Amino acid sequence: MNFHILTLFPQMVEQGLNTSIIGRAQEKGILSVETINIRDFTMDKHKKVDDYPYGGGAGMLMQAQPVYDAYLHVVEKIKTRQRPRVIYVTPQGKTFKQEMAKEFALEQDLVFLCGHYEGIDERVLEEIVTDYVSIGDYVLTGGELAAMVMIDSISRMVPGVLSNKESGETESFSDNLLEHPHYTRPEVWRGKEVPQVLLSGHHKRIEEWRKEQSLERTRIRRPDLYEKYLSNK
Ligand code: SAM
Repeated sequence: MNFHILTLFPQMVEQGLNTSIIGRAQEKGILSVETINIRDFTMDKHKKVDDYPYGGGAGMLMQAQPVYDAYLHVVEKIKTRQRPRVIYVTPQGKTFKQEMAKEFALEQDLVFLCGHYEGIDERVLEEIVTDYVSIGDYVLTGGELAAMVMIDSISRMVPGVLSNKESGETESFSDNLLEHPHYTRPEVWRGKEVPQVLLSGHHKRIEEWRKEQSLERTRIRRPDLYEKYLSNK
């Protein structure tokens, strides 16, 4: 799977995605993460990419031309017959969820558009964006962190990225449940013991205990999810 990120701050994204599991998946060739610096496409002789908003108001807006030309560069490069999905990360989008991560992971190429300042001229958004996605109801200074959050989560759903396939399928949000608690060595830490059932070697009982814990945890921490779980049963 190939991620193409249109941004004014490529280093921020590169540094964030080049380590750990996502970095390894890139080394193995399962994923590629390419950043495209929107500033490289400006026609302004001073390399300017933003301007004042018509009608006044606070802040600056990213202009349409450099964003559009950066997008055309990606389209030309990937040469797919179909238009790639272009995700504009924005607080005005649909809230990102695990289900969306699974759906996006089926694409071969995904383009992310990161805004900055007050955002981006609406006309280029109308022209190129297929999906408006938010990572939550708060405002960030730029889209880079949001794109990184999404790329990390989508990547985990791409076959071969996680070493143990199961861990991507049984963790929190599958079936609308949060995952059960985990314990590792030592058996006793600051007087707290690992639940005995986990030391029993009895797989069926361990599974039952985990399911109970998962249900109880979801009921207490995320009653909204718990309701969904019950209604889908
Ligand atoms: N003026 C915009 C508004 O009120 O909707 C907010 C602009 S924000 C300061 C700058 C950029 O950060 C946005 O263009 C977007 O790309 C990104 N951004 C901010 N909050 C975000 C969020 N919750 N989810 C995804 N992207 C976000």
